[in-house]
Amino acid sequence: MAEKIIAYRFNRLDQTLSQLNKENCAIIAGGTDVMVMHKSRRGVPPKIPKPIVFIDHLSELKRVYQNQKDLHIGACCTYSELLGNPLIPLVLKKAIKTIAAPAIRNRGTLGGNVCNASPAGDTLPLLYVYNAKLLLRSVKGDRIVPISDFIQGVRRIQREPNEILAEIILPSALEEGAHVVFEKVGNRNADAIAKVGFAGYIRLNGYVIEDVRFVFGAVGPTMVRSVDMEKMLLGKTVPLVDSEIAQVVASFDKIINPIDDQRSTAIYRKTVGLNLLRYFLSMNQYLND
Ligand SMILES: Cc1cc2nc3c(=O)[nH]c(=O)nc-3n(C[C@H](O)[C@H](O)[C@H](O)COP(=O)(O)OP(=O)(O)OC[C@H]3O[C@@H](n4cnc5c(N)ncnc54)[C@H](O)[C@@H]3O)c2cc1C
Repeated sequence: MAEKIIAYRFNRLDQTLSQLNKENCAIIAGGTDVMVMHKSRRGVPPKIPKPIVFIDHLSELKRVYQNQKDLHIGACCTYSELLGNPLIPLVLKKAIKTIAAPAIRNRGTLGGNVCNASPAGDTLPLLYVYNAKLLLRSVKGDRIVPISDFIQGVRRIQREPNEILAEIILPSALEEGAHVVFEKVGNRNADAIAKVGFAGYIRLNGYVIEDVRFVFGAVGPTMVRSVDMEKMLLGKTVPLVDSEIAQVVASFDKIINPIDDQRSTAIYRKTVGLNLLRYFLSMNQYLND
């Protein structure tokens, strides 16, 4: 006989937060990571060692809105909902379309991708180049944390047991004049876990680089970014000369340390990652826009 589990599904966010404050529970949004993580034998329900609390239906966690220049995305918006939302940048939609298949996109949420903190989480490189901030809510109030502080390693996040990720805030997603790219290399165009992910962001003033950011996914325990390297490129003119590109690529050759696993080899990941960086830094494509 299947073991009994305790599950909560409150109508409101405040009730959910109050339960989380009383009892350490496993949060389930879409469940597409949780159910896989706790799966048992065929035909046997997953074993989750804590009471569970469902949050996917909470309307407070499903809003998408613009506040001044910031884009706020409710953590429990599913990928399919985001694909249908006109406020979501096209490049984020491009990333979402590479995730799983429609059935998973109908359940999986952006907040779940962040809190699962997988090195291969497909939205993460883009959220990092957008300098995403995370709004965490508990009975004690709200706090805002940069995504790069929140994600600390493979499936390690800086969340208190009584907190829920309420919103993902993108400060620069709606600004004009920035070029943002996303590339994912997997076994096929969608429904494949990334071997390498890459996102790049560049804003020019004429030919001068005013802001630039680039991030690799799936080549380390968490996203790989070098703010120092980005600073070094500020004020340079595009197209960059070959020696400037070679210098950045050589630094990342040292920083990127991928692993061999069932999906790819370390050497393939590194070669492809550096090629994507070289392609991004060539930047000629932006000059024709
Ligand atoms: C067949 C299949 C294919 C997949 N393909 C891809 C893919 O191509 N790319 C990819 O990136 N991922 C993929 N995934 C993984 C998964 O679908 C995504 O990571 C998805 O975004 C997880 O969202 P969720 O709502 O289902 O998370 P859940 O499984 O509900 O939760 C994931 C984790 O986050 C926590 N959590 C969720 N929401 C919150 C919140 N608001 N506040 C606090 N904690 C929270 C949960 O407690 C749990 O620890 C795939 C999964 C499956 C099963």
